[in-house]
Amino acid sequence: MTAMDALEKQRILLIDDERFNLNALHGLLREAYKIMVATSGEQGLKAAKTGLPDLILLDINLPDMDGFEVCRQLKSDANTQNIPIIFITALSNPADETLGLELGASDYITKPFNPSVVWARVRTQLRMVEQSKLLERFAFLDSLTGLANRRAFEDRGASEWNRCLRVGAPLSAIMLDVDQFKRYNDTYGHGAGDECLRRVARALSAALSRSGDLLSRYGGEEFVVVMPDTGLDGALRVAEKLREAVEQEHLPHLASGVADHVTVSLGVATTVPVVVGGLASLLAEADRMLYASKTAGRNRVTGGELKG
Ligand code: GH3
Ligand code: MG
Ligand code: MG
Repeated sequence: MTAMDALEKQRILLIDDERFNLNALHGLLREAYKIMVATSGEQGLKAAKTGLPDLILLDINLPDMDGFEVCRQLKSDANTQNIPIIFITALSNPADETLGLELGASDYITKPFNPSVVWARVRTQLRMVEQSKLLERFAFLDSLTGLANRRAFEDRGASEWNRCLRVGAPLSAIMLDVDQFKRYNDTYGHGAGDECLRRVARALSAALSRSGDLLSRYGGEEFVVVMPDTGLDGALRVAEKLREAVEQEHLPHLASGVADHVTVSLGVATTVPVVVGGLASLLAEADRMLYASKTAGRNRVTGGELKG
């Protein structure tokens, strides 16, 4: 097994106080999954909260509290409520089974268990986990360019704002808009327009070197970069670098009127956050600066400080 396998293996938390069961489950699942073990309800809750496994196999008869209570607590905590739970129990009566499912458990296995049944049910749950993680990833991606989309940007941007507020660091935003892009579509067609946006996206992401900088497609032919721990001078330098990177693609745009190739206009705004949740005001300022670049002739950078 390589280190990569260990990273990618899905993780299962077993909560059971009987060594015999633990050994059997561990033996059955450890090849394919990474296994964590807890032998009481208390331990199990702690392991779930800190380890955030992909799936929990939960015994109903535990020494300190019953599995139903463990399930109840996991389902009432936002951090653990989406982790699927399979109850494993010797009790096989419909009332218990119903209670478990009503509490939000995903499935039920009775002891003595049949290994291939355990295996199949575990695999089904973990495949669904994988699928929903994949979906979640796509929900944050712009399908045309593969960049983060506006939703991803708003999520991360808001948390960067709040982090900079906590540590007293500056935060900058760059708004960027392709010049005379309507004319580009009118001249070369919408398909070529799409390809142009992909090329612009690629050029922008290649020009950004710091991993903390978040580039996303904000909408249509607009892109935004949010840069934590970056003051106005630094942000203006990055914006100029982005402007040059797009020019250097030399994508022909003969109807532009600005140049004979595709250009972008940029607006930069910087602030040291002093209130919670003010990302929108920073973007509005960057947008005003972008508008100034447009009216001053396009293919340029304008920037300023946003006063707290
Ligand atoms: P300005 O220099 O002032 O920004 O002029 P502009 O023509 O770029 O601005 P305007 O807002 O008038 O037009 C934007 C155009 O971008 C119109 C729209 O059809 C095009 N557009 C927006 N999203 C897409 C897209 O996903 N694909 C393509 N091909 N075109 C798009
Ligand atoms: Mg626009
Ligand atoms: Mg435009």
